Amino acid sequence: MEHARDIEAAKLVIDEPKRAFIPTTDGGLFPVRRVYCIGRNFADHAIEMGHDPDKEPPFFFQKNAENVDSSGEFPYPPETSDVHHEIEMVVALKSGGKNISEADAMSHVWGYGVGLDMTRRDLQGQMKKMGRPWEIGKAFERSAPVGPLVPISQTGPLDEGAISLSINGETRQSGDLNMMIWKVAEQIAYLSRFYDIAGGDIIMAGTPAGVGPVERGDKLQGKVAGLPVLDVTVT
Ligand code: MN
Repeated sequence: MEHARDIEAAKLVIDEPKRAFIPTTDGGLFPVRRVYCIGRNFADHAIEMGHDPDKEPPFFFQKNAENVDSSGEFPYPPETSDVHHEIEMVVALKSGGKNISEADAMSHVWGYGVGLDMTRRDLQGQMKKMGRPWEIGKAFERSAPVGPLVPISQTGPLDEGAISLSINGETRQSGDLNMMIWKVAEQIAYLSRFYDIAGGDIIMAGTPAGVGPVERGDKLQGKVAGLPVLDVTVT
């Protein structure tokens, strides 16, 4: 009964939970199914987190679909005193499958946006130390601010171009998409070995160096060349 087509035939015993949608620049809404996030995908960020960028295969974690938020506000979350920004390109898939080849991977991309992988770094750090899952540090309410998605038909494939984040006008993160260790096509191919990926899935494609804390009242501005600017206020 998990599929939309089955719901009409069944009686929901509670109200249907809210679905997450991301607005698109062509006036539509992109329904979110899953949120995959790659870890340490820029060498300079891997180094700042204390890791060797050369020796690791890619790894992913997930946020919940309803953690995605396009309101332009990020309420400071509970049970933390060290929330970090991670500016990332968001890749939105229109289709998927299993064991997708790198050569075929980009044909599954609907478009791109600018996102933030907001992170309760103190909680993530505790979990890492104890060898426990990162979820409490990564998958929490409104932890994935995402700006409007642009169809790939308008942008072309984005393999290079500036990516940056400023707080209150001061640049904190800056890099280039061409610094990604695992390219988008490689990420899609890799994920599809382990999961049935599908339309509605989004991938947060990794963050360059310069991650750091945010405070209430901060105005975050995320940019990826060729995509609409993401403005988020910490409340
Ligand atoms: Mn990240």
